[in-house]
Amino acid sequence: MIALEPRSPVSPTIDLDAPGLRHGHLRLPWSRNESAWGNLMIPVTVAVGAPGPTVLVTGGNHGDEYEGPLAILDFALGLDPERLTGRVILLPFFNYPAVKAGARVSPVDGVNLNRCFPGAPDGSITRQIADFVLRALVPKADLVLDFHSGGRTLDFLPFAASHALPDAALDARCAAAAEAFAAPHTVKMLEIDPAGLFDTAVEALGVTFVTTELGGGGGTTAARVAIARRGLRNVLIHGGVLAGEPEPAPSRRLGMPSLDCYAFAQSGGMLEPLVDLGATVRKGETVARVWPLDRTGVAPEIVPAGLDGLLAARHFPGLVQPGDAVAVVAVPED
Ligand code: CA
Repeated sequence: MIALEPRSPVSPTIDLDAPGLRHGHLRLPWSRNESAWGNLMIPVTVAVGAPGPTVLVTGGNHGDEYEGPLAILDFALGLDPERLTGRVILLPFFNYPAVKAGARVSPVDGVNLNRCFPGAPDGSITRQIADFVLRALVPKADLVLDFHSGGRTLDFLPFAASHALPDAALDARCAAAAEAFAAPHTVKMLEIDPAGLFDTAVEALGVTFVTTELGGGGGTTAARVAIARRGLRNVLIHGGVLAGEPEPAPSRRLGMPSLDCYAFAQSGGMLEPLVDLGATVRKGETVARVWPLDRTGVAPEIVPAGLDGLLAARHFPGLVQPGDAVAVVAVPED
């Protein structure tokens, strides 16, 4: 039992501190029609080697993003605590009900884990998960790596990212860890919606935080999983817990200087991309058109780029709704 005040209903089935390798669960009481005294059993792996720092790695924060969970599962399988200086805590299915549903948000309570931090010990299930991880696991960590991709509705150029933070020392630590990941792109990310993010909550505790966007569309590719596996290993080496040499890879630095990076659809309809991910775009250039579905002979909505840069993300499905983010432009910094 982990002593938290106020108490959390979540309890790990394994010791998180003793040396060695353990695979177990975070057990969360979940009384429901199918099981009156049931529990949600969220898989967790802990490996503790010689004394040293702790890295917490999470995937499946959104349940329809696959690179992170796949990299974590593979890493957990071959994990040798003898090779660790410190501890890794691996949570491949952070929002477990969402992962099992292949959905962004939890089907249990409809909550988006990455918009509900700090969570609440007496809240709905997703809020209880957020609260436990933030109060019981993050304080043990020197570095947190939270894997994301675009999910079913977005697709990204693969990148690792940190945020611009007011604490210059923390900003530098986060940026260095993102760089260490060695994704094809390293982004200083400007969030459109920072409230309730795991990112913001971890950074507020002064813990080094790295996130990623490694693809999307609700599936993955061999190349994208390879980027995730390399990045995971590189960040663990950078964090001082894993022995070995990092695997370098070319990485282009990108910035997001303002919210003009984001382009939204004003109308709904059929999405016609005019440029693909990675393409260079100019401010005002049409990056996509949205065709109305109710008649022919009507001009499409034009979606322009808000600034010069390259297309870093796009809406994935073929249909859009008014207000959907259609494109994200990031700006090369070298
Ligand atoms: Ca995500």
